Amino acid sequence: MKLDFCYDQHLHSRHSFDCQTPPEDNVRAAIDRGLAGLIFTEHFDPHPEEWRECVYDHQTYTGTIRRLREEFGERIFIGQGVEVGYYRERLDFTLDFLADGGFDCVILSLHAIDHRLLHLRESWENLSVPEGSRRYFTHLLEAVEFARDVNRRGRPVFNVLGHLDLVKRYTRRFFADESVEANADVIDRILHACLDAGLIPEINTSTWRQGLDEPMPGSAVLRRYAELGGRAISLGSDAHRADDIGAGFDDALLLARASGLSYVACFRDTRPQLVSLNLD
Ligand SMILES: [Zn+2]
Ligand SMILES: [Zn+2]
Repeated sequence: MKLDFCYDQHLHSRHSFDCQTPPEDNVRAAIDRGLAGLIFTEHFDPHPEEWRECVYDHQTYTGTIRRLREEFGERIFIGQGVEVGYYRERLDFTLDFLADGGFDCVILSLHAIDHRLLHLRESWENLSVPEGSRRYFTHLLEAVEFARDVNRRGRPVFNVLGHLDLVKRYTRRFFADESVEANADVIDRILHACLDAGLIPEINTSTWRQGLDEPMPGSAVLRRYAELGGRAISLGSDAHRADDIGAGFDDALLLARASGLSYVACFRDTRPQLVSLNLD
């Protein structure tokens, strides 16, 4: 399938603490995949345990983007974005940072339930799959409602909702179980808030590479989003290796269309361009 109408707008390079990939390798891979663009979305995570490692360096990152645009800018759109971890105690700090950012696309993500980082096994001690999942979705609702209130004040600050049902990645890994359907009521409220906020959910294809049988979110949530009036989605591989840029996009586009969605949103300067799902 041709991918020359869409961007991969969730990916990392060595400017993220958990990734070693040279950014130019990502650009070359995106050109090879035939994508119209890629947007780097390096981690900015004010959660105290993540922040110690996160070491987000805006100046160096911006210099890299400038250099890549000079070298490859005629062949592909290269965006500068950021994946912001929602952390209740440092929202002013987060907003101050974003006010000066000059980003193409800002992803809002939740990686922790309060102080428990989802990806750590010890965070799940004394926490059942249903209880942890409930807490995750409730917390995510709070994050999305925060983004909605911020976006309503003026020019949108948050553009994409990252990996909506991320919790299933870790409950599957640690317990071979998930509790997403049981939270359909909270997910409905999350989707309504996304629509009110102009926050576009992504289809994050990374779980397909990790042995799960669906992306984040899965088809039931995507269908529900379309039923509630959602029309557009964002596409993100969440690649931490250049080989994974654009991975799973064919299947993601087919799934989006089968779920009743019509557009892919491609961001530049935080403004979405809606491109028809053109799957020939
Ligand atoms: Zn993430
Ligand atoms: Zn990511």
